[in-house]
Amino acid sequence: MNLPTPLITSHALAQPADLPALDKVLHKSELTSAITQHGLALVTQQLRLLLSDRRTQALEQQLAKSEVEPANLIAQLIERLGVLTASKLKTVINLTGTVLHTNLGRALLPDCAIAAVTQVLTQPTNLEFDLETGKRGDRDSLIEDLICELTGAEAATVVNNNAAAVLLMLNALASQNAVASKAEVIVSRGELVEIGGSFRIPDIMSSAGSTLVEVGTTNRTHYADYERAIGEHTAMLMKVHCSNYAVVGFTKETALSELVKLGQQHQIPVTVDLGSGTLVDLSQWGLPHEPTVKETIQAGADLVTFSGDKLLGGPQAGFIVGRKALIDVIKKHPLKRALRVGKLTMAALESVLSLYRSPEHLPERLTTLRLLTRDQADIQQQSERLQPSLQQAVGQDYAVSCEPMLSQIGSGAMPIDSLPSFGLVVNYQGSDKANRQIMRLERWLRTQEQPIIGRIHKNALYLDCRCLSEQQAQLLQTTWSSTQL
Ligand SMILES: *Cc1c(COP(=O)(O)O)cnc(C)c1O
Repeated sequence: MNLPTPLITSHALAQPADLPALDKVLHKSELTSAITQHGLALVTQQLRLLLSDRRTQALEQQLAKSEVEPANLIAQLIERLGVLTASKLKTVINLTGTVLHTNLGRALLPDCAIAAVTQVLTQPTNLEFDLETGKRGDRDSLIEDLICELTGAEAATVVNNNAAAVLLMLNALASQNAVASKAEVIVSRGELVEIGGSFRIPDIMSSAGSTLVEVGTTNRTHYADYERAIGEHTAMLMKVHCSNYAVVGFTKETALSELVKLGQQHQIPVTVDLGSGTLVDLSQWGLPHEPTVKETIQAGADLVTFSGDKLLGGPQAGFIVGRKALIDVIKKHPLKRALRVGKLTMAALESVLSLYRSPEHLPERLTTLRLLTRDQADIQQQSERLQPSLQQAVGQDYAVSCEPMLSQIGSGAMPIDSLPSFGLVVNYQGSDKANRQIMRLERWLRTQEQPIIGRIHKNALYLDCRCLSEQQAQLLQTTWSSTQL
């Protein structure tokens, strides 16, 4: 008969009775600092769980005697506590090639915003207090003038994100309608966007209590389609920017200026959800042109909504800008209170928006723009410096090469344009299944103490260095030189 070889020889096996009592371990001086740091309750609870696990192992004859030593148990306990109490929100190194990556927290804030946030974190502020009158103030007023200056709009309000901005705008304008439940919003079939994470224009519309009236076809929507759809319950003509897709080929989109004329004729507000919405013309830095908020206002849109943490490069926020009469209605809607932003967001927004007063300095001051305009030669140099240490870390079964690749702006901004970049490509050379080995490598990098996020494409791992800071590059070089997969 073939018995499995025991892992531990029987004389070295611990019995349940060998385990120390909980109290005996808990009162050891080696645990004092852990108790101060994590609290007696958590330490006791984790010790109880540890002893119970070890008791089970002892009963199954799978525990070595050395493992029941109090010093050994304490070491295991401290490790458990460390894992349990480590912050769940971690910084990661973004080598995905997507600059505004929604799952990785989108825009990185510039230093000036960090300083502004730090100040309001620790000191009282005039968030909603008018220092002139000594009375209650309006938090929007802190940045409204600045937004109007940068966009040419008459008025503005800020909420939690752009999804909230669209929801609030629809709710407020629908409730202005005599029969709110019948308020109709006309949108082209080609613009019924799903942003991801369940933000879909038709769903937002129904949760705002308004009725979506789809006009035109997926590829073509004419002026006459909008015109025919207008009726006594029409509350709004809405355009939605095709953020994350492009309709190409035999297409027809009705220009905003035409829609504005139609809206004026029938006295119906025309609104535009720009999504990313940039405040400056990005083509001056060689980036693809994206409609600016100012252009959209100038073309006659009554209201425009856009995000704070996409191309704008600020904190998570949503803006509604446009006609004062409409913004006033929006500000008074009860949802505005539920969707408002906090002081941290306000501080960061004010500071980031101020940078736009000197557009010529934006590429060096605004982190998002710095990353988007980063020179390909610079990215190449950085990749080449990293190549030997990554090759060392992954071993000879993998081949690490430096190659040109394309980065994406991300977050739905300019979905089909890509930025020339550089990075490391890892291919598997061994005899095993390549896809499994590449997935193993991707996981290894992702689960490091400082997680590194790349992307797999055709059985190779791509590490785009566009978003890698010099400090992070040095850290990777040191770590990779001294570790092995
Ligand atoms: C991104 C986007 C939204 C959602 O904005 P969040 O700031 O993520 O809430 C809405 N509409 C469009 C067109 C977008 O591109």
